[in-house]
Amino acid sequence: MIERGHYDGFGGAYLPEILVATFEELVETFQKAKTDPVFWQEYVDLMSTYSCRPTPLTFAGNLTRHFGGARIYIKREDLNHTGAHKANNVMGQGLLVKRMGKTRVIAETGAGQHGVATATMAAKFGFACTIYMGEVDVERQRPNVFWMERLGAEVIPVTEGSRTLKDAINEAFRDWVANMDTTHYVLGTACGPHPFPEMVSYFQSIIGTEARAQILRREEKLPVRVYACVGGGSNALGIFSGFMDDPVALVGVEAGGKGLDTGQHASRLCSKDASIGVAQGYKTYFLQDADGQMKETHSVAAGLDYVGVSPILAHLKETGRVRFEAATDREVVDALSLTIRMEGVIPALESAHAFVQAFKEAPSLSTDDSIIINQSGRGDKDIFTIADAFNDPKWQAFIIKKAGQYHA
Ligand SMILES: *Cc1c(COP(=O)(O)O)cnc(C)c1O
Repeated sequence: MIERGHYDGFGGAYLPEILVATFEELVETFQKAKTDPVFWQEYVDLMSTYSCRPTPLTFAGNLTRHFGGARIYIKREDLNHTGAHKANNVMGQGLLVKRMGKTRVIAETGAGQHGVATATMAAKFGFACTIYMGEVDVERQRPNVFWMERLGAEVIPVTEGSRTLKDAINEAFRDWVANMDTTHYVLGTACGPHPFPEMVSYFQSIIGTEARAQILRREEKLPVRVYACVGGGSNALGIFSGFMDDPVALVGVEAGGKGLDTGQHASRLCSKDASIGVAQGYKTYFLQDADGQMKETHSVAAGLDYVGVSPILAHLKETGRVRFEAATDREVVDALSLTIRMEGVIPALESAHAFVQAFKEAPSLSTDDSIIINQSGRGDKDIFTIADAFNDPKWQAFIIKKAGQYHA
C-alpha cells in the first residue's frame, strides 16, 4: 500500500482517477531510490560536478559587527548552477525521470526561475521540455523566457484565469493527464499532491546536511537560530531538515508585501487572510475567500508570490516547531542594500526576507552564539525590480536608450 503523505491532516493526494497509476509509479520509483545508497551518491556527484555543491557557509563578519549580537553566517545557495536552490530539486527529479524511462518533462513557472532550472536539466539529460507560464508572467519575465527557449524548451503562455502561476499549474496538470506515459511533471516546490512535498524536501535536505556539518566545523557548536524565506517552502524545509532534531529555533519568513493588514501580501501562515482548504491536489493553508476562490497575492519577490504553502510547513506551524514571520517589501529592499554594501554578496529579493528577520533578532542574541541565514538565490536576476526600487536614474536612462535601438 502506498503511504499517502499526510502531515496530521495536511497534504494528501487528491487526484483525478486517471493520474493515480502515474503517481503510484512515481511514489514507487522515489521510495526505491531513497533506499538505494547508490542513488544519493549519484545525486551528490552530479550536484558537485554540475552545480556547486557543497555550497559554502560564509561568515558575515561586517554584518556581525554592525548588529553587535550573534555571529551571522550565510548559506550560499546562490552559488548553485542557475543561481538558486531550485537546481537541487530539478536535478534530483531528473535522475528519477531517467529511472522511470520517461523522455519528456513539463513544468509550471511563475517568475521563470523554475522554468529555467527545468529547461537546463532537460538540456543536460536530453529530455524534451515544455514550460507552462501565465501570459502575464511571460510579458513580465522576458529574460527568463529568452533563456528557456535558448535551452530548447517550448514555452506555452497560459491565457486562462488570471494568467499567472496558478493557471500555469492547472495547464501543466492537463498536459500530464494527456501524456503521462512519456512525461514527468517537475513540480517546483514542496507543495502539490504526495509525493511532491516529501520528494522535493528530500532533494533540498542536502542544504541542511551540509550547513549542519559546516557550522559545527567552524563554531564547534550548533547555531541558536536558522532563518529561511518561505514561498512554497522548499529552501526552508531544505535547510531546516538539518536541524529538525536539534535544540535550534527555526524561523520561516513569508512575503509581507505592502503590510499584512493591506491584503497585498503573500502570507499564508502569519495573516488572517488564509484558511485551510484543498486545491491543486493537496490540503494546506491557501489565500482564498469564503467561497474558496484564490486571492490575488503581492510581493516584491516574484518567487514568494504563491497562494498555497507546503503542507509540511503548515504542520510544523501547528506543532510549533517552526516559527513564522513576515517581512514587508520596504524592509526587504533595506536589508538587501545593507547586505550588498557590507558583505559584497547579492541575495535574491526572496532570500532577503530571511535577512530582514535575522537582522531584527541578531542584536538581542549573545555574541557567543551563531545564526544561519539561507541565501536561497542570487539577486542579479532581480536587476529590473531592484533598479526600480532604488529609482536609479542612470538605469532608467539606459533602458530608454536601449529601447530606442529597436525603433528605427
Ligand atoms: C523560487 C525561489 C524561492 C521560493 O521557493 P521555496 O520553494 O519557498 O524555496 C525562494 N528563493 C529563491 C531565490 C527562489 O528562486
